Amino acid sequence: MTDFRRELRIEPGTRVRLAGRDLGDTLGWDKARAEPATTQELDRLADLQDRLWAESKRAVLVVLQGIDAAGKDGTIKKVMTAFNPQGSPVTSFKVPSLEELAHDYLWRVHRAMPRKGEIGIFNRSHYEDVLVVRVHELVPRTVWSKRYDQINAFERHLAANGTTIVKFFLAIDREEQRARFQARYDDPTKRWKFSMGDLEERKRWDDYQAAFDEALSKTSTDVAPWYVIPANRKWFRNLAVATILADTIADLKPAYPPVAADVPTGLVIE
Ligand code: AMP
Ligand code: MG
Repeated sequence: MTDFRRELRIEPGTRVRLAGRDLGDTLGWDKARAEPATTQELDRLADLQDRLWAESKRAVLVVLQGIDAAGKDGTIKKVMTAFNPQGSPVTSFKVPSLEELAHDYLWRVHRAMPRKGEIGIFNRSHYEDVLVVRVHELVPRTVWSKRYDQINAFERHLAANGTTIVKFFLAIDREEQRARFQARYDDPTKRWKFSMGDLEERKRWDDYQAAFDEALSKTSTDVAPWYVIPANRKWFRNLAVATILADTIADLKPAYPPVAADVPTGLVIE
């Protein structure tokens, strides 16, 4: 049994350097073994979500980050098959609207937080405000550099108020991104997803890596840990994310609520 959380969690206070990692690593797993194991984890997640939803006392927030083509959409598509859509809202954070820009950067994020009983998924998140915003200098360094502490304080507040936070960084290498962009371009059912802007962003690969390294180093905390998932292999990514999420929610021991006090035992309904 692999302890995915122990293997992939960023210990608070450690310096992360993505460039030094093997992003094709599978922790000894192969695809043939991973597929049934993933199905099993998804079954476990389905059961846990049902309990969490019935209980309606705690919320879970799943944050997904990663460079373009890292597999955020694919992970959602796979892992969400475990969930009743009624209890698992997905929010995709895009370029902020004028209204969003008229507020502080956490405003749109706080509004999108899952309610008690829900497992909310963020496809991108407030981390964009120390990633794309930093790389493109959309605000000066003096502004974004203060955000790591602000994000930690925000997440601490959320956790203290009943939300369990789990953050996944899907890490692919430069060659894998190239291959995925090419495949996206070559496939007529996927070309719509490809934009020339993706190639412009790809030119800033090193700037993004530096921004990722700093965000992962500064914002992995006990209440909101980062897991860096080696994501070159999609089947491994799915197994790791599903297992870590199931283990995290299992720790909450979500339970079905007691039967209402006025409901007798042995009732036969006519
Ligand atoms: P996609 O994930 O392909 O749908 O693209 C969403 C785009 O929105 C990405 O290029 C992000 O970098 C961008 N985006 C998300 N949040 C922000 C933000 N806070 N400021 C600027 N751009 C953002
Ligand atoms: Mg995109």
